[in-house]
Amino acid sequence: MTRYSDELIDEIRNNNDIVEIVSQYVALKRSGRNYFGLCPFHNEKSPSFSVSQEKQIFHCFGCGIGGDVFRFIQKMENIDFREAIQMLAEKAGIVLPTLENDKDNKMLELKSKVYEINNIVATFYHEKLYLSTSKIAQEYIKKRKLDNNTLKTFSIGYSGNYDEIYKLLKQKGFSDEEILASSLVNKSSNGRYFDRFKNRLMFPIKDVKDRVIAFGGRVLDDSKPKYINSPENIVYSKGRQLFGLNVAKRSGKRQIIIVEGYMDAISLYQRGITNVVASLGTALTEHQGRLLRKYAEKIIIGYDSDGAGQAATLRGLEILQNLGYDIRVLQLEGAKDPDEFVIKFGSRKI
Ligand SMILES: [Zn+2]
Repeated sequence: MTRYSDELIDEIRNNNDIVEIVSQYVALKRSGRNYFGLCPFHNEKSPSFSVSQEKQIFHCFGCGIGGDVFRFIQKMENIDFREAIQMLAEKAGIVLPTLENDKDNKMLELKSKVYEINNIVATFYHEKLYLSTSKIAQEYIKKRKLDNNTLKTFSIGYSGNYDEIYKLLKQKGFSDEEILASSLVNKSSNGRYFDRFKNRLMFPIKDVKDRVIAFGGRVLDDSKPKYINSPENIVYSKGRQLFGLNVAKRSGKRQIIIVEGYMDAISLYQRGITNVVASLGTALTEHQGRLLRKYAEKIIIGYDSDGAGQAATLRGLEILQNLGYDIRVLQLEGAKDPDEFVIKFGSRKI
């Protein structure tokens, strides 16, 4: 089989109500027979984006875009038709047959290998943190007062001083192509393989499904750069993920605090505030705002109190307002970021 059958595509469409799917991205209000909201595909102040439950289609009177649930997901997630089928099939619990001779299929396979690699390496770094040879990382952890529960919850780890990831992954049977696709290993011009992260405290970045999609690494001394992150690759694109959402969603509260960096999120978690995510970079994106819709109505912005943080707060406010959230801004008087704030004043003030 080289393509999915029309019957199968119909079945997937019938099992994904368009109003329900669109609602995961856009705040919709019923008006007569249709639902209306602010168009996610163009900038507008009054809603001209409509969804018809009866016809199972959407249409924007502002920019003219429209179509069925597949089209919506394609545009929204920036994916092709086949990926939209796969995504909606998964949502509906429909198992798809494997397609043959297919380069998209190969891409999917490479993606799943990279997830596997990320998972193996996250575990490797995490276990390394507990070894007697990792004193420098353990001292930092102690200084930051991170307990074992926090280390386990965020799978915090340590990348040592030596190139070891390539060898580790080769032993597990991964190909060079798969290893390089993970961005955890680089290849020099003379053909040598070396680790991207060395002598850093490691923070796996996970998606909502708990899959490791990237890593951040922090230095343990004063060297620069202080933080490095995985570059964008086949499983990771910046601005489309929120660090800690996999943990924050379990808090069961319908409100979420957004902070800038992973140390802020982890530090708040350590002090009992578990509904925190980090936007991984200063400016919150629209996509990140939409990701939260499933888990929260109320959002608290807790960015740094410096100039860049203030600018990011204003930008975030605008994005979140347009998405219809109830928003609060955390005033951090006497501290430069949430991390320093809870260390100085404790968590009750937040
Ligand atoms: Zn539009």
